[in-house]
Amino acid sequence: MKRKFKVWGFIKFLLVMTVVFCCINKFKVLYLENFQQNTSNENVLEPTSLNLLKNTDSDLILVNKKNTVNEDYIPKNLVKPNIVFLNSCTKEEMQLQSKAAHALEELFKGAKEDGIILLGSSGYRSYQSQVNVYQKYYNENGKEYAEQYVAKPGTSEHQTGLAIDVTNESRCFDKTSKEAQWLANNAYKYGFILRYPEEKTDITGYNYEPWHIRYVGKRVAKKIYKNNDALEEYLNEN
Ligand SMILES: [Zn+2]
Repeated sequence: MKRKFKVWGFIKFLLVMTVVFCCINKFKVLYLENFQQNTSNENVLEPTSLNLLKNTDSDLILVNKKNTVNEDYIPKNLVKPNIVFLNSCTKEEMQLQSKAAHALEELFKGAKEDGIILLGSSGYRSYQSQVNVYQKYYNENGKEYAEQYVAKPGTSEHQTGLAIDVTNESRCFDKTSKEAQWLANNAYKYGFILRYPEEKTDITGYNYEPWHIRYVGKRVAKKIYKNNDALEEYLNEN
């Protein structure tokens, strides 16, 4: 009798353990499904996805020769950052999206503290002003020249209000200048990246531009800086 009781006890124990094990597994599956949903909702950007083109509210919007912006796209919250601009800068170009404008003010302040004087050269450019520039080059120098030297309307990330060209007092912003070196090493701390690095021209499709910085937010800027990525590479990997 005692032995029979022990066997039944053991079977009961096995049954209870099986139920507990199944419950734990079910919970794990539910948890993982939720977790994956949350994380994938965060990563709404897929470089190959058409959604990317439409997500003009994102700090990570990708604009290049393949991913164009619509001609009617105007960022909602353009403001003039409190920095010194070149005299040649138009009123339109003195604007950025507000979050980028505030970050830029901090960047200029940080530069100044390190003895680096930067100037704003060209921020937001509307689709229409891109058309005007393209047309001007086309009329004066022909189609081939215009295509080589001017971004086609809709392919410039200046239209997002998240990018700006900066310069220095000597207007000689090449990679050997202390201002360009400071920018390359510090822009990420303020949420900006060097959008067209020298060694990534085949990926970005643009020549090296040490003066062109793009706001992506501090977290992403730091990642891109540490991994030495182009924005296109970051978006492909994340
Ligand atoms: Zn630029």
